[in-house]
Amino acid sequence: MYRLNDKIKDLKPYDPVEGGYRIHLDANESFLPLPSGILEELSAELPKVSLNRYPDPSARELCQAFAEFYGVPVENVAAGNGSDELITVLFTGFLQRGQAFATVEPDFSMYAFNGYLQEAQHIVISKRKDYSLDIDKIIEICQNNKVKLLIFSNPGNPTSIVCPREEIRRLVRNVDALVVLDEAYMDFSDQSLLPEFQEYDNLLILRTCSKAFGMAGLRLGFAVGPKPLIDAVKAVKSPYNVNVLSQMLGTLVLRHSQALNEAREQILHSLRELVDGLEALREKFPGRFQLLPSATNFVALKMRDGESLYRWLGERGVAIRYTGGLVRITCGTAWENKEVLREMEEYFAASPADGE
Ligand SMILES: *Cc1c(COP(=O)(O)O)cnc(C)c1O
Repeated sequence: MYRLNDKIKDLKPYDPVEGGYRIHLDANESFLPLPSGILEELSAELPKVSLNRYPDPSARELCQAFAEFYGVPVENVAAGNGSDELITVLFTGFLQRGQAFATVEPDFSMYAFNGYLQEAQHIVISKRKDYSLDIDKIIEICQNNKVKLLIFSNPGNPTSIVCPREEIRRLVRNVDALVVLDEAYMDFSDQSLLPEFQEYDNLLILRTCSKAFGMAGLRLGFAVGPKPLIDAVKAVKSPYNVNVLSQMLGTLVLRHSQALNEAREQILHSLRELVDGLEALREKFPGRFQLLPSATNFVALKMRDGESLYRWLGERGVAIRYTGGLVRITCGTAWENKEVLREMEEYFAASPADGE
């Protein structure tokens, strides 16, 4: 009988969302559909796509549209089948077996997962109690342990807080490791290192179309960095990683910078609604939760009964995440925000304050 090896025998598929939730605030996607004008352009373009041919392996037009939107040279950009794929590519290509990589915890779970599959040595660096990054500690641990790859998100998932650019600069300058800076949520904040990426030879920045740009279903992610590193990413990735439809539609959407900026404003408006509602809840139920300052499209709540709130909401058809000891709620439509706030109010009213 064939037996799965020890490495994979206990693995479970990623986050199966079971059952029919009526509201999805669990995956930090955009709640906005693509603007109808863009959808019309798409239907006009669709017949021109050669589905019988392989896609452009370097996704040139797509990378060009991305490069123009962010004002970076196209030769410094590589496209992936979501930034998730690029994370896998970085772990398989930039780490040799047994070498050390470091993550800060809590953070996006895919980093540790990829390092595990790569059979690399994982060094976990905890965040401070307030979830900020202790840059001096990270530098020291990376240098003392010959860390080859340091990967973290900024703004952080699931913490929602952003580390100031100046601190990240200091970190990148003071480690020998390749720093993979996952800026999946940086479209909601203003501390990006993208404008100055050329100043570093050990920095790769990841961006995604899944969060601010409403294209999670297309699976589009990008890496930006020094040309030798980007060329290596292109050499390691599978040749036809971004399919023709995603290349075509992604290119089209990224050329609509005004529509993208408007969508971002709408998402930020929704976030403020959710934050205002939570602050009102906090006044009504003092001491029940802490709200971390969000620089993203989601909020992070610190509370001792977070898991029980998570279950309460799930039973009422509202999907959120409970991860890294934090309750994480994506901002949604006005109605979705109202619904989650209403269910939370009922929860706080119904459940005892849990030994406060
Ligand atoms: C959502 C998310 C991603 C995944 O983005 P895709 O481009 O959809 O694969 C990567 N990093 C972080 C921190 C995320 O939260």
